Amino acid sequence: MSKAFTPPTQTADFAPVVERIETWLVDLPTIRPHKLSVATMDGQTLMLVKIHCSDGIFGIGEGTTIGGLAYGGESPESMKLAIDTHFAPVMIGQDATRVQALTARIGKMVKENRFAKSAVETALLDAHGKRLGLPVSELLGGRRRDRLPVAWTLASGDTARDIAEAEAMLDLRRHRIFKLKIGARSLREDIAHVAAIKRALGDRGAVRVDVNMAWSETEAAHGMAALADAGCELVEQPVAAASALARLMRRFPVPLMADESLTGPESAFELAKVGGADVFAVKIEQSGGLFNAQRVAAIADAAGIGLYGGTMLEGAFGTIASAHVFATFANLQWGTELFGPLLLTEEILRQPLDYHDFELTVPNGPGLGIELDDDRVAFFIRDGLRKTISIAG
Ligand SMILES: [Mg+2]
Repeated sequence: MSKAFTPPTQTADFAPVVERIETWLVDLPTIRPHKLSVATMDGQTLMLVKIHCSDGIFGIGEGTTIGGLAYGGESPESMKLAIDTHFAPVMIGQDATRVQALTARIGKMVKENRFAKSAVETALLDAHGKRLGLPVSELLGGRRRDRLPVAWTLASGDTARDIAEAEAMLDLRRHRIFKLKIGARSLREDIAHVAAIKRALGDRGAVRVDVNMAWSETEAAHGMAALADAGCELVEQPVAAASALARLMRRFPVPLMADESLTGPESAFELAKVGGADVFAVKIEQSGGLFNAQRVAAIADAAGIGLYGGTMLEGAFGTIASAHVFATFANLQWGTELFGPLLLTEEILRQPLDYHDFELTVPNGPGLGIELDDDRVAFFIRDGLRKTISIAG
């Protein structure tokens, strides 16, 4: 059935088309083990996709997950396979300048696979931005801010080490909002951990927690009361079910944030309808792309729900794609956690990202406004066995 594609002759009458798609798995070490209730990460795998267009322009997108398949149904390996096998034939030869029409075409042929769709949409927007000489944020309607506050996650698993890390971040003026990953230990140990860190930081640093759905509703009821007493200002996804989130809402003087429950505009609408969250952690990958992340934000705004720019611990490309989206949000009351690249030991960009004074600068150049260092990344491209590991636990 499938017929080899012959690109049209490039004339002024023809819009540039998608010509070729490359995907790579890039294994990068992290600066320390990153302990979550679902997994401990000793490295991160980036799935990078490069879309070459017939006008000589290319765009790059990225997909990552947290702990392989520990977080959701997609892995970097599955994204690569899906794009190589199922996305590429739908995209080759199609008008590269009509990004939304092309992603709708992909949507018809490819169900689910939100993370892979986000990576591909990022690459198409990067290419089109370069073509028009505009940053991706301008293609998304125009930015409202050039810098984004960035929280840091303390997840070494050790209280004293976390406090030392927070102090170092405050000294560097890199982060003053700290998110603690809890839920892997007993409730009592977790609360003591949070309270000790908040006591040490006082008013110099805000403390929030992410339970990654590890608690039952009863544990959450106890936990949220104790966390409020400990000075924690935000509790992220303590339980899995949207109905349980809704029952926990307003019972405690600490706002509740939905993260894993948000899988795009439909789930955002359902959560808003049942009053299941005070805040949405919006992620481009979880939302299924950059435009969908904006739709999630619009639903939050309409429902009076606060917004936070979330991360799947992406490297530079996913992080900056997210930054361009978050820069367009009407409201971003809780800042962002776009620290993913800072967790990696290796720089893969020609020019590193600008983190200073507790914020990340949204690049101003065409497309994403960043450039891959091909020589550096070549060293980390997987060509057989995986180069870093993450152990479930
Ligand atoms: Mg989370």
